[in-house]
Formats: sequence, structure tokens, C-alpha cells
Amino acid sequence: MLKVNDINVFYGNIQALKGVSLEVNEGEIVTLIGANGAGKSTLLKTLSGLLKPKQGTIEYLGSSIAGKQAQSIVKAGISHVPEGRRVFANMTVEENLELGAYLRKDKDGIAKDLQRVFELFPRLLERRKQQSGTLSGGEQQMLAMGRAIMAKPKLLLLDEPSMGLAPLMVKTIFSIVKEINKEGTTILLVEQNAHMALSVADRAYVIETGRVVLSGTAKELKETEQVKAAYLGGL
Ligand code: ATP
Repeated sequence: MLKVNDINVFYGNIQALKGVSLEVNEGEIVTLIGANGAGKSTLLKTLSGLLKPKQGTIEYLGSSIAGKQAQSIVKAGISHVPEGRRVFANMTVEENLELGAYLRKDKDGIAKDLQRVFELFPRLLERRKQQSGTLSGGEQQMLAMGRAIMAKPKLLLLDEPSMGLAPLMVKTIFSIVKEINKEGTTILLVEQNAHMALSVADRAYVIETGRVVLSGTAKELKETEQVKAAYLGGL
């Protein structure tokens, strides 16, 4: 579904991605794990059209999307849930969700997906009229994911959904990630919480200072000494 081949991405003179290649197949949950500053968010921003690779190719469903406008990438079925959630604080939960569908015209489909989001996240249904800025961190994460689902993505890019959340909320969020995937959405998940990420993913890539240094099935990586020592707290 997605083939990233040898991309280089720069911020001015600083090279954040150095020859990164990876693949996501339809139906998978693929995770990209790595420490702070490794380049994970940069990769997602490049996939969603916020940054342009200086070199390399990005193929999505057989077409090149490298350097395309973010809006046309959303239209093609890629939705990005950014780090830090970025919900519109002064708008209600429902208004934020409706905004996720701004490029769609199929009213019936939009109404159906709103119901689906409320089924996945009953907490959002309870709070549909509440100002989003007053939600808890976990609820804002739910809202950001719900808003992305409203765009009807084929591929969902999730940037550190567990960040800053209590362990119970992290569990809830990850079980919903699984659920969304089961219903047919392919997922590329960026995480610092390698333990949780490897427990839900089919395959994984490890990124260090802008380079992919390891890849394999989640099961294989969980048992790799290097991953255990650096990302699983020696477990
Ligand atoms: P984090 O979890 O901290 O977001 P990350 O793996 O997502 O980490 P990136 O945010 O992709 O890392 O950053 C990769 C590198 O690019 C880092 O060295 C970072 O300092 C640098 N970088 C990120 N954004 C910018 C920017 N806007 N301008 C300059 N350098 C940047």
C-alpha cells in the first residue's frame, strides 16, 4: 500500500531523515519506534505532505505522493493524527469531528462515520457539546483520532498516541487502535512506548538518528537484544 524508498528530508541544513525506506501493506499495523529526535514525526509529516523529501520516492496505492499537497494526500485516503493532538480548543467535540470530514461530500457516509466514531469512543458521545479545550489529555487523543477517522482514511498515521497519558488510558487507546485496524484501516504508528507499540503491531521498524537500523515482525523485534536493551527497559 505504501512504499517509502530511500528518502532524505532536511530542515534547512539539518538532515532529519537519511535514506529511510519502509513499507506498509494493506491491513497491517506497522510501528516505527525510536527515541526522542530520531526522526519519527518527520517521517509522518513527510508522508502527509507537510514536508518534502529532497531525495527518494514515496508510492501510495501505486502513485507517487512525494511532495504533493497535504490536502490531496488526505483526499487520497491518508489521515495524520499529529503529536500533541492539536484539537481546536474553542470548538466543541462534535464540531472538531465534523471538521475532519471537510473534504467529503457524502452526507450519509459522514453521518454514518460520526456514529461509528461515537461507538468507538463513547466518551466523545457523552461530551459531544463540550468545548474541546476542557477535555482531558486522553479524551483529546480520542478526539484527534476520531477527527482523523472522519476523513475516511485507508491509511491512518498516528504520532505518539500514548504521550502523556496514564497507563489505563494508554491501554484504552491501544485497544481502540486494534479495533480501528480490524475494521479495515491500515495503521502506521509512531511510538516511544515500544512495549505497547510492539504488542499491537504486526511489523516494526526501529529508527535512530534519521536511519532505519532494524526491522522485522513485532514478535522478532521484541526478542532482539538490541531492542530489549534500548527500548524495552532491559525486559
Ligand atoms: P520526538 O518524539 O521528540 O518528536 P521524533 O523521532 O519524532 O522525536 P523529529 O521530531 O522527527 O523526531 O525530529 C528529528 C530531528 O529533526 C531532530 O534532530 C529535531 O531536532 C530535528 N527537527 C525537527 N523539527 C525541526 C524543525 N522544525 N527545524 C529544525 N530541526 C527540526
